[in-house]
Amino acid sequence: MGLFTRDIKTMDDLFVHQLQDIYYAEKQLLKALPKMAGKATEPALKQGFEDHREQTEVHVQRLEEVFKMHGAEVKAVECPAIDGIIEEADEVAGEVDDKSVLDAALINAAQAVEHYEITRYGSLVAWAKQLGRNDCAAVLQKTLDEEKATDKKLTSLAESKINLRAAG
Ligand code: FE
Ligand code: FE
Repeated sequence: MGLFTRDIKTMDDLFVHQLQDIYYAEKQLLKALPKMAGKATEPALKQGFEDHREQTEVHVQRLEEVFKMHGAEVKAVECPAIDGIIEEADEVAGEVDDKSVLDAALINAAQAVEHYEITRYGSLVAWAKQLGRNDCAAVLQKTLDEEKATDKKLTSLAESKINLRAAG
């Protein structure tokens, strides 16, 4: 973000900027999710990461659709927040020896990702409506619902078995 050049002047600029930010994030996640699936031991968690990678491909396509609907260039801007979350996940995973504890750490990292996405998509939906773009809001809402569902699935996986096993 060009804080000093002040290239975000309007709500519309902010909307497009955050679209570019989450577009970058989703693309990074396309690369990170297979790695997380590779590290997971619990089959349901491994499958969950693989399923969410497929959903993430659709998230990328939906963003491209929204850029076009809004007449904006399909473009990614670096998102240090998602890079940091992914980097931290790699670091922690590298330091965990026990496989059950590793699964718990992977769920924790994945939930940090989902919560980040929920925050961004939540604002994007609200702003799209404010800007009179209910069409864009509807597309973004589909992804927001999937991120929320993924977060819930991760919570129930953690609570139903992974945390118990990790602690035991
Ligand atoms: Fe996503
Ligand atoms: Fe997600």
